[in-house]
Amino acid sequence: MKHVVILGAGFAGLELATRLSETLADEVHTTLIDKKDSFSFGFWKLDVLFGRKTVADIRLPYDAISHEGVEFRRERVTSIDPERLHVTTDAGSYDADILVIALGADYDFAATPGFTEGGVEYYSVPGAEQMRGVVTDFDSGRILIGILGQPFKCPPAPFEGALLLHDHFVERGSRDSVEIRVAGPMSAPVPITRELSQSILGALADRDIEYVPNQQLVALDTDRNEVQLESGGSIPYDLFVGIPVHRAPDVVEQAGLAVNGWVPVDPTNLATRFPAVYAVGDITALPMAKAGAFAEAAARVVADDIAARLQGGELEHPYEGEGTCYLEFGGGAVGKVEANFLGGAKPTARLVGPSLDLAADKVAFASTRRKRWFGS
Ligand SMILES: Cc1cc2nc3c(=O)[nH]c(=O)nc-3n(C[C@H](O)[C@H](O)[C@H](O)COP(=O)(O)OP(=O)(O)OC[C@H]3O[C@@H](n4cnc5c(N)ncnc54)[C@H](O)[C@@H]3O)c2cc1C
Repeated sequence: MKHVVILGAGFAGLELATRLSETLADEVHTTLIDKKDSFSFGFWKLDVLFGRKTVADIRLPYDAISHEGVEFRRERVTSIDPERLHVTTDAGSYDADILVIALGADYDFAATPGFTEGGVEYYSVPGAEQMRGVVTDFDSGRILIGILGQPFKCPPAPFEGALLLHDHFVERGSRDSVEIRVAGPMSAPVPITRELSQSILGALADRDIEYVPNQQLVALDTDRNEVQLESGGSIPYDLFVGIPVHRAPDVVEQAGLAVNGWVPVDPTNLATRFPAVYAVGDITALPMAKAGAFAEAAARVVADDIAARLQGGELEHPYEGEGTCYLEFGGGAVGKVEANFLGGAKPTARLVGPSLDLAADKVAFASTRRKRWFGS
């Protein structure tokens, strides 16, 4: 039996553990480690923010995992030795034959002075819950959604936030008293595709929401209620909603796995420069969007590569950076973006919808993963 140790039970770790159980349960024992007691889909944070789900509703407890050959451990990873394939946690240590780093992206709130004291966010579950209360009490003034760094998870999510805030204030009858703006470093909302950016810009314009492009937001002046820009200017706000700076977890940096912030991998099979060590999901330095759909697709490739490695074969289908992401346009309409970042000469992305019918697809996306990973 080979011992595969997967660090992180997010989209990537859960799909990898499931697939290893399906395909290699006779040859592989898998230890899956996460510091949390439950998983939640990223897009459920928007549901918490707008009161469509509670924090209790979105918890999928890891206790429910019951895949043959897979053992879940709730532990915090404290050090990784990628040369010796050795991992230390707050409760013990592990020696792996194959090690997979799937620890995702952390948020660096301190990278933006003033943000913690003066802003709100919906990129974490506690943040979404707190912002819900703030938005409920807000009925007039300027809301600025500021994208504080790149890369960040789920490129459409800041714009989904803006479109759903519009609906929220329309429903409350106060939309005319609220100004909504999004500002960020990108030249267009989702630069990979002009078509998708145009659709988002059109949806924003229809709702009188402005996107202010090419802005590096560096700090909040909480006395003056304005965001300072690297260019020297500033943007005023009454409510600042930040998309935080993302970075690799400290333990990954300390292990010497990251280069310029993220873990470089072979794009075909997600192998790192260390033998028998893979990195998968948001933690990688691949030139593509960070999203669960891509993390999951990459995990399937890692499982296939591990099978090929153990059985002396070749990986048949290299990773293409492909996946489907859903984007809420408001009014119950959902769009579907089918993207492929690495399979061709240049990235492609196609927008399907938005339509009311696709809302059901998004629900099905979550429920099939829930059934597959947690059995219910
Ligand atoms: C508001 C929002 C909306 C989104 N919408 C979508 C969407 O519609 N579609 C989509 O595909 N993606 C969406 N995403 C992005 C998606 O959630 C992430 O890209 C995805 O979760 C990445 O998967 P991952 O496995 O790489 O990392 P994660 O899912 O973040 O998993 C990493 C895991 O590692 C664990 N971990 C970290 N450090 C340690 C440690 N030291 N010890 C132990 N465990 C540790 C964490 O607890 C975590 O469970 C959204 C994200 C947000 C914030």
